[in-house]
Amino acid sequence: MGKVIAIANQKGGVGKTTTAINLSSSLAFAEAKVLLVDMDPQGNASSGIGFDTSEKGYTSLYEVLIGDAEAEDAVIDTKVENLSLLPSNINLTAAEVELVTTLSRETRLKKSLEKLREEYQVIIIDCPPSLGLLTVNALTAADSVLIPLQCEYYAMEGLGQLLNTIRLIRESLNENLSLEGILLTMYDPRNNLSKEVLNQVEEYFSESIFKTIVPRNVRLSEAPSYGMSIIEYDVKSRGAASYIELAKEILPKLS
Ligand code: ADP
Ligand code: MG
Repeated sequence: MGKVIAIANQKGGVGKTTTAINLSSSLAFAEAKVLLVDMDPQGNASSGIGFDTSEKGYTSLYEVLIGDAEAEDAVIDTKVENLSLLPSNINLTAAEVELVTTLSRETRLKKSLEKLREEYQVIIIDCPPSLGLLTVNALTAADSVLIPLQCEYYAMEGLGQLLNTIRLIRESLNENLSLEGILLTMYDPRNNLSKEVLNQVEEYFSESIFKTIVPRNVRLSEAPSYGMSIIEYDVKSRGAASYIELAKEILPKLS
């Protein structure tokens, strides 16, 4: 049975999608069989790994969640060996509205992924920047949650709310949900603020922080516009090294 890891933080721009794409690719590079699930209507994980979301006639996560298609039929191969994608696009916005009135609306994704868990060693879910029904579906389907925190002012703002949501999900929908870890992103050693955030987060969450800290690295921000992971785009970059290191921390914890 594959492990399902949700990458969540209701703040936008903290590195969720960058982490989803590059952690998935690094795990696939290490020969794990990986499925990347794009749970954000913006479709950035889909386009960032090279899928053209404006293409016509493909099945996306939207059709899967509203019950018009099976997840297995929506999964496509990516250019990266061992890495498959369950793509999304702007239609997913409607799912959030349409699901509100349906039965078992919080467990739609979990049900959809059941068969796929047999096939993949790890399933990575890229969450949208909100704590709405899509993120609740992701956290309900997940075994663990990885929280990226950007090393800047107010890094920890909203973290309490996220941890509270995780607690509520544990109490009602998914008692086994664990914290995979907190990942510091966009770290800049020349910036005193980055160091301050690091110290502060360490003080509160020492045990839960990944040893890997993702530096601010321009190659990481360039790669998605070429539809490439950092492994394909510039494997020698510091950004690539950091996500390979993160994959090494996570690999031993896969069953
Ligand atoms: P989120 O999915 O949380 O909204 P993204 O992963 O899309 O965040 O990142 C927000 C922006 O920051 C994007 O333009 C991305 O390319 C850039 N970015 C993310 N991580 C890094 C990094 N380590 N170094 C430089 N730029 C980064
Ligand atoms: Mg994103």
